[in-house]
Amino acid sequence: MPEKYDLAVIGGGSGGLACAQRAAEYGARAVVIEAGRLGGTCVNVGCVPKKVMWNAAELAAGLDDAAGYGFALEVRGLDFAALKAKRDAYVERLNGIYAKNLDKRGVTLIRGRARFAGAQLLAVDGRKIEAGRVVIATGGRPQRARFPGGELCIDSDGFFDLAALPARTLVAGSGYVAVELAGILAALGSKVTLAIRFDRVLRSFDTMLGDGAMQALRDGGVGIVTGATTASLARKDGALVATLADGRVLPPVDCMLWAAGREPIVEDLGLERAGVALSASGFVQVDRFQQTTVPQVFAIGDVTGHLPLTPVAIAAGRRLADRLYGGMEGRHLDYGNVPTVVFTHPPIGTVGLTEAEARAQFGDAAVRVYTSNFVPMYYALTTHKARASMKLVVTGPEERIVGLHVIGDGADEMLQGFAVAVKMGARKRDFDDTVAIHPTSAEEFVTMR
Ligand SMILES: Cc1cc2nc3c(=O)[nH]c(=O)nc-3n(C[C@H](O)[C@H](O)[C@H](O)COP(=O)(O)OP(=O)(O)OC[C@H]3O[C@@H](n4cnc5c(N)ncnc54)[C@H](O)[C@@H]3O)c2cc1C
Repeated sequence: MPEKYDLAVIGGGSGGLACAQRAAEYGARAVVIEAGRLGGTCVNVGCVPKKVMWNAAELAAGLDDAAGYGFALEVRGLDFAALKAKRDAYVERLNGIYAKNLDKRGVTLIRGRARFAGAQLLAVDGRKIEAGRVVIATGGRPQRARFPGGELCIDSDGFFDLAALPARTLVAGSGYVAVELAGILAALGSKVTLAIRFDRVLRSFDTMLGDGAMQALRDGGVGIVTGATTASLARKDGALVATLADGRVLPPVDCMLWAAGREPIVEDLGLERAGVALSASGFVQVDRFQQTTVPQVFAIGDVTGHLPLTPVAIAAGRRLADRLYGGMEGRHLDYGNVPTVVFTHPPIGTVGLTEAEARAQFGDAAVRVYTSNFVPMYYALTTHKARASMKLVVTGPEERIVGLHVIGDGADEMLQGFAVAVKMGARKRDFDDTVAIHPTSAEEFVTMR
């Protein structure tokens, strides 16, 4: 006899946990099936350990700056193993908290790998689970390096397994994961080369941000090789040597980190037994209500390919539960104006349209851009100076703000509040009418002319 539930969620990551817990709050009998560690990518090999490492990297920069403020410090290096041990222990504590939270809300947790046996029937290691509704929240994983010697690379999961800081690292990729990890490694003391396929990192972001990130990486000691498609990797004299498709041979390194994108985890789910279709790019196809091609089966988070970010997976999962079990008819996630931060040094914050997107959408004549570029006051006394750049993209005679972009210290914490304003439809005039907070970098956003 199958075990019966109202809702079965495959995957106990950001989206799956949020959806199951919200459904249980409405009284649904919910089960989460998780094959690995609770919390998924974000908690175990994503946002959380990444942010710990970014904090360490920021501290390293702060230690360098301290002399400018009169401190005479003797820094005896970084105990990387101690940092890793403390970070891993923190993540383990979170794994435990996530399990307790499920328990508190009466959500059943089954450890194992789920496969569809029918649209509303799952098999988990010999157990059968029957559910009124099923949510696929299986997330994604790093793409493998598919060139000769690719198996010698680590990926972002492997970055978190590093027991020691590599003396020399080659990072391949130009997305946010590549850029963030390259910056962290360099700040902690690795000699980093970043190999990118085109001429700019973060190509889907506003060009000001991509250019700013390139400058910041270079200032941080990262060597950037453009037009670089890796053709092979080989071990030579105890080091790794990458050869590019155009024949260039990169300097030897101790570690190559392949960070060229992520792919959905779908292949062993037995989706065909449920009748769930994939999109042309291989993600689970959903409508704006997160419904797949099967009425009782839904999908949320990275496996759908829409804005792969933790808060997006959580918001989609909670809204889905609100609609299915909380009586909120029509409730769904609006994927527009989602703010996001890239944890570079200094960090990047962005919400809304890039300048290029706004020009394409509204026409050049309707778009106006306000910019600011300055050295934040923190650097008044330091030798190292990281400039900040800001941009407001506005449209129409009322100058509605459709894009807000910043690279600079504090951008990560600055963005959330501004995102509320942009989401509410703020105009440039509303920003101008808001009194500045002085002395901050954020005040530039309300004093631009
Ligand atoms: C290095 C890195 C840094 C990141 N930094 C940030 C950040 O700073 N901010 C941010 O918002 N996002 C960040 N992300 C993205 C974020 O981690 C993901 O968007 C988020 O985790 C997606 O949540 P999800 O629920 O869709 O999937 P996941 O969190 O990946 O969870 C999916 C879960 O499903 C399980 N699973 C898969 N198949 C099965 C199966 N058949 N049966 C049972 N269980 C299964 C997996 O084990 C996993 O636990 C980062 C990602 C990476 C890789």
